[in-house]
Amino acid sequence: MAKRNLLIAGNWKMHKTPDESAEEALKIASMLGDFDLSNKEVMIAPSFTGLYPTGEALKDTKITLGAQNMYYEEKGAYTGEISASMLKGCGCRYVIIGHSERRQVFNESDELINKKISAAISNSLIPVFCVGETKSERNENKTLNVLDKQIKNGLKGIFVSGSNELVIAYEPVWAIGTGDTATPDQVEEVHKNIRGLIEKIYNKNVAENIKILYGGSVKSGNAAELLSLDNVDGALVGGASLDAKDFTEIIKA
Ligand code: PEP
Repeated sequence: MAKRNLLIAGNWKMHKTPDESAEEALKIASMLGDFDLSNKEVMIAPSFTGLYPTGEALKDTKITLGAQNMYYEEKGAYTGEISASMLKGCGCRYVIIGHSERRQVFNESDELINKKISAAISNSLIPVFCVGETKSERNENKTLNVLDKQIKNGLKGIFVSGSNELVIAYEPVWAIGTGDTATPDQVEEVHKNIRGLIEKIYNKNVAENIKILYGGSVKSGNAAELLSLDNVDGALVGGASLDAKDFTEIIKA
């Protein structure tokens, strides 16, 4: 089958003030110029405070906006939290859910992630659902089992019928921010397995159309090879997305 359209997403984590986010986003748009984005989508996920100004700055561009997290309740006494409709109000199309930093630093469980994915989809946001194994899990040959469990738990009771309701990002924990990228063989093995699992949970149509991104030390030097793999439909980029020049090179790879 033809290659699915790619999604290149930048996760800016806890970097950049609102002004810096809007400025960098505009820099990316201007460096892309009239680069053909007909088979590629570019998404930027600034911090919560950067969402609104960055969304405004990107209004007349083809770059879309994503958030890095959300809470599953619609409103109420949840001090410090942000709802799906608040993200929609800032112009978000995507929301990253279950990033390994949320799982590890903030103790997010599969159950919580499942509720967030469900709330995002109900509010017509596209979750970028992150899964990944630790170094010791890989060394103990547990990678595929760990991912199976994260995906089954994360998607429990969640109905998906089309291609544009859910994105999965495979992000080996040991490759995030370490410069240690998974090899093309490791990535393709895992992505193929995830696609097979999606077919079992949903159906062939969903499996063939769902985007499965790779994340973990993607940079301009390795992006082209990773993005050319059959089952890789884009990249979730952390560190290298913070600088417009580096990120633009990845998008053009
Ligand atoms: C990430 O934060 O999702 C990520 C993949 O980071 P990095 O590209 O820096 O490894």
